[in-house]
Amino acid sequence: MTTTRFAPSPTGYIHVGNLRTALMNYLIARKAGGTFILRIDDTDPERSKEEYVDAIKADLEWLGLHWDRVERQSERLDRYAAAADTLRANGRFYEAFETPTELDLKRKKQLNMGKPPVYDRAALDLSEAEKDALRAERGQGVWRFKLDQTRIEWTDGILGDISIDAASVSDPVLIRQDGQVLYTIASVVDDMEMGVTDVVRGSDHVTNTATQIQIIEALGGTAPRFAHHSLLTGPQGEALSKRLGTLALRDLRERGVEPMALLSLMARLGASDPVELRSEMAELIEGFDVSRFGSAPTKFDEADLFPLTGRYLQSLPLDAVVERIEAIGVSSELAPAFWTVMRDNIETLGDLEGWWTLCRDGADPVIEDEDREFVAQAIAMLPDGPFTPDTWGAWTGAVKEATGRKGRGLFMPLRKALTGQAHGPDMAALMPLLQVVKAR
Ligand code: GLU
Repeated sequence: MTTTRFAPSPTGYIHVGNLRTALMNYLIARKAGGTFILRIDDTDPERSKEEYVDAIKADLEWLGLHWDRVERQSERLDRYAAAADTLRANGRFYEAFETPTELDLKRKKQLNMGKPPVYDRAALDLSEAEKDALRAERGQGVWRFKLDQTRIEWTDGILGDISIDAASVSDPVLIRQDGQVLYTIASVVDDMEMGVTDVVRGSDHVTNTATQIQIIEALGGTAPRFAHHSLLTGPQGEALSKRLGTLALRDLRERGVEPMALLSLMARLGASDPVELRSEMAELIEGFDVSRFGSAPTKFDEADLFPLTGRYLQSLPLDAVVERIEAIGVSSELAPAFWTVMRDNIETLGDLEGWWTLCRDGADPVIEDEDREFVAQAIAMLPDGPFTPDTWGAWTGAVKEATGRKGRGLFMPLRKALTGQAHGPDMAALMPLLQVVKAR
C-alpha cells in the first residue's frame, strides 16, 4: 500500500517551500488510497519546540491536508539505537574523533590540492588502544556510516536517472558526540519501519538520498521510490531561502490567502500542466501527477496568490461567507446584495471591510478641479435615499440632460465623488447599498 510522509522539523513555522513537499506527499497518498503520515522530526531537543509542532498541525489543518497518524522521532530513539547496533555489527559504523577544527583543516588542505573535500577515513586506521586514548582525552567520538564506494543509482520520480559516486561523498555522521541521533539515520529507520513507499522532498536532499539508500540496504531494507522537487526561487529567479521566513503559511493566512488558491497554485507550479483554480481537494488529487514536475528551479510569486484567491471567492455562494459578512456589521437583509455586488471586487475577504465602511460611512469624495461645479450640480440632483437599483440610471440620465455631459466624463466624476475611487462595483448595483453619501 502506498504510504507517504511529511516530515518537518519543528524548529520554525512551515512556509511555501515546506508546503510543496507536504502537498505532493499528501496528494500521492490520497490518489492511491494510501496513508499519509505526519512525522515530526524532533531529534534535536534544543531546536525543536512544542509550539512549532502545534503550529505545523494548525497550518496543515487550515489547508485541509489531513494526516492519518502522527509519529514523533523523539519517541523512537530506541529504534534508532537498535539500528545503530545493527550497523556496528555489520562493520558499517565507526567512531571518529576529529574535532570540527581538525576537519576544517583537512578540508582546506584537500581543496588547496584541488581534491574534493571528502572525509579521509583516518579513523578507520585507529587501533583500539588509540581509540581508548582519544576517548579518555576527548570523550565519545561521532559515529560515521562507512559508505560502500560504488556508484549509487536510482530512478528519481522527478529528476530521472541519478547516479552518484559514493567515493565523492563523506561517510555521513549518524550519531553526534553527545549521542544525539541525526536525521539521516532516523529518517531511514522510520521510512523502513513505517512502510513508507514514496518519498518526495526538496532537491537539497539528493546527496542524503544517496547515503540513505546505502544505509537502508545495510539495514536489510528496500529503498522507497524517491522524487526530488526543485527549489523555489523568487519571481526573478533569486534565492528564496532568506525570504521564506516571510512566506510562512500563517502569514499568508493572515493576509487573507484562501487555502484552495494556495493549494491550486502549489499543486501545479513547476509542472508542465497549467495552474488551474480548483475548489475541491478531490479535483487536486485527481489532477496530480508527480512525474509532470520539472527539475528546473521553480519561480514563485506570492502576488499570484491574490488574484487566485479573488477568483476562488467569486465562486462562493453567500452561505460560505455570510458569517464573515455579518461579522463586519452588514445586516442579514443587506448581506445577499452586498455579497453579490462585492465578490467581483475583492481579492481577499478582508477587502470586504473597506467596501462596507464605504457603504456605511461614505467615502471621502475625490473631485478633480475641473469637475467641481459639475459634481456640485449633480449632487444637488441626487434623490433622497434609500436608493434602489434604478437610482443610478435615473439620476445620471437627469444629470446628463441638465449638463450635457455623457460617457466617461459623466460617470467617472460621479463614481469618484461617491466612492472615492476610479474602480469598483457596478454603480447601479452599488447605490442601494450606500447608506451615506459624503459628497452631499
Ligand atoms: N526533517 C527533514 C527536513 O525537514 C525531512 C526530510 C525528508 O523528507 O526526509 O528536511
